[in-house]
Amino acid sequence: MNLCELAPEYIRAIQPYRPGKPISELVRDLGLNKSEVIKLASNENPLGTSPLAKEAMIQALSEAARYPDGSGYELKEALSERLGVSTEQIVLGNGSNDVLELAARIFLRPGAAAIYSQYAFAIYPLLAQAVGATGIRVPARDFGHDLAAMLDAITPETRIVFIANPNNPTGTLCEARDLLRFMERVSQDVLVILDEAYDEYLPEANKANSIAWLKNFQNLVITRTFSKAYGLASVRVGFALAHTDLANLMNRIRQPFNVNSIGLAGALAALQDVEFVKHSYTTNRTGMLQMTSGLRQLGIEYIPSYGNFVSFHISGNPTNGLKVYKNLLQQGVIVRPLGNYDMPNHLRVTIGLEAENKKFLFALEQALKEIG
Ligand SMILES: *Cc1c(COP(=O)(O)O)cnc(C)c1O
Repeated sequence: MNLCELAPEYIRAIQPYRPGKPISELVRDLGLNKSEVIKLASNENPLGTSPLAKEAMIQALSEAARYPDGSGYELKEALSERLGVSTEQIVLGNGSNDVLELAARIFLRPGAAAIYSQYAFAIYPLLAQAVGATGIRVPARDFGHDLAAMLDAITPETRIVFIANPNNPTGTLCEARDLLRFMERVSQDVLVILDEAYDEYLPEANKANSIAWLKNFQNLVITRTFSKAYGLASVRVGFALAHTDLANLMNRIRQPFNVNSIGLAGALAALQDVEFVKHSYTTNRTGMLQMTSGLRQLGIEYIPSYGNFVSFHISGNPTNGLKVYKNLLQQGVIVRPLGNYDMPNHLRVTIGLEAENKKFLFALEQALKEIG
């Protein structure tokens, strides 16, 4: 008997997560020059990394032979001060994916269920499946979360509801008052995970004061990340905010050194670099206008987005989405096809620098001509 056949069926059935194509891969595939390729596929920060964070990470390299501070003391102190929570409410993760997984491992198992929206972040169904839990996908409304329907979908087996706000890949946002009403109605024995990976890109007027809700709802977990506006996707730092008891459980099952010292140093410095985050925000706002007005000029429909990306629709034959994606690759432009989200005619493009957005829009125009 093959050993792998002894693995649970739900593990063997997992379809691996498909990340954005790395630049190095396209360079290898097409023999392009690295400088000719632009990657607008993974919602990374087009400004790169904050200079302060880069300097701090270089300093931290000299201690690379030592294990990191497993408690993440300094970063937690800084986050605690910035966000107005106690350090006992913070769980650091190897990216926010790590803390999402901790919550899933605590509450999900075969027989338990997790709820997420159609078109929501692809990691949620994967997390449920990896622990043999049932995934309940609730139909979206206008590509966004239908919170009322999600509330109705809760069964006695439901342990977690995932809400991405804003959502990736659709960029949709739930209004704060609707989220609050959801929290007030949902049973206290269902954990609500509010994934705020793109929070820094929201105008102040659109931000939910979700951290304040932690005082009233012990079943709320908020997740944030240093991967996007802070420009640290590669070093993998994210965190969860939760009630002390829940944070304690999560901290007990995480790997003792889940966040490395380079990441800790980079995140701490990035948090202090308020100017860089502000610049990231304004660059994204300007770039979003450039991108959406360019799409409109090409007659392309898009889903209005609150993130640092926008998903747009290629009309006609259902294979046109993939055709345009491949044509863009030939031109050295990497975007994200959304076939694995059941949106085969949508592509997601990350907002880049002005010249990158321009190059993308030009390449898209060519691609549309070629597919006819
Ligand atoms: C990018 C993203 C994250 C962040 O993942 P990390 O593991 O922190 O890099 C989390 N949630 C959503 C919805 C995202 O798009």
